[in-house]
Amino acid sequence: MTGTPSDFYDKITKTFDSAVESGDLIYSKGTTESATIDGLTYYFSIVPALESKPTVSGNETLLAKISLEDSEPDVPTKPFDPFDPPHPALLVLDEYESDYAVVLNKFSVIPNHFLLVTRDFKSQNSPLSPPDLVASYKLLKAANSQSGKRHVGFFNCGKNSGASVSHRHVQFLTLPEGFTPFPDDLVAGAAGKKYEDGQSPFAHNQVSFSHYVVPIHDTDEDALGFRFSTLLSRTLTTLRQHKASPISFNFLFTEEWFLMVPRIAESSEGTSINALATIGLLLAKGDEDLKSIKEKGPQKLLESVCIPWDGAEELEYDY
Ligand code: AMP
Repeated sequence: MTGTPSDFYDKITKTFDSAVESGDLIYSKGTTESATIDGLTYYFSIVPALESKPTVSGNETLLAKISLEDSEPDVPTKPFDPFDPPHPALLVLDEYESDYAVVLNKFSVIPNHFLLVTRDFKSQNSPLSPPDLVASYKLLKAANSQSGKRHVGFFNCGKNSGASVSHRHVQFLTLPEGFTPFPDDLVAGAAGKKYEDGQSPFAHNQVSFSHYVVPIHDTDEDALGFRFSTLLSRTLTTLRQHKASPISFNFLFTEEWFLMVPRIAESSEGTSINALATIGLLLAKGDEDLKSIKEKGPQKLLESVCIPWDGAEELEYDY
């Protein structure tokens, strides 16, 4: 078992700086502004690198082109996989917890945007396993303690979640300083401390789309696996009851909580909605995109790609 090296975050920073310098990583500083709408805080950011990020349909077009150009049509084409192997200039740890590697995101939303990827191919369309959860949680904790900054991790599962790469990966970013994601309020205090496995997940009554939150107390494989399963069971029931297909959700986590959001669409009228939007971090490709996000309003946008929820409905859960 290979744990987190004590100079892990140092390596992240150094690899990021040299990959930007060599042009292997695309990042340029954007702008951020914040607003409070209906009691919830949103940060609106312009992220120029998103303009260059490949999309699922882009990857499919690339594949189609490759197979059309193939002189032997019966030879199976390998799906586009940027993590097999990862680009050497973006590789931070080639072996982590035996089965994973740590890689920088080629199209970084902010500096030091990194990914935990499986060393062997595993599908992004299946849920995280308990070992995936342990490795992700350990990495997040190490990033927090070594950098002194708070991180959020996220996993996009299924076509409607915004996933663009089918090789399993979990992403990590620093949260903006002073930003309080809404699950913090739910798990703070006595209710969060008393939460036990089997109890209904928490939800915020000002958030207008289905979402499930559980606090994290124990961090062993069983504990993390149970909490993840609780969220997944609610998500699967909700998706089925709304006849949503394929199974898609965003899973986000900090040291204190897990959050899962069922998804029914990747974008709303051409505006892609990233996992981070579910906690109030809205990312735009440029001025036009930002204008459209603001005009539509974050709540309305999220309601159209997630499952609208009025804070009252209690479904019968059967998973
Ligand atoms: P998702 O779009 O959620 O599936 O996440 C995949 C991430 O991989 C995106 O954020 C991309 O920016 C990133 N990415 C795409 N190609 C590469 C690459 N060659 N190396 C590292 N990261 C990549």
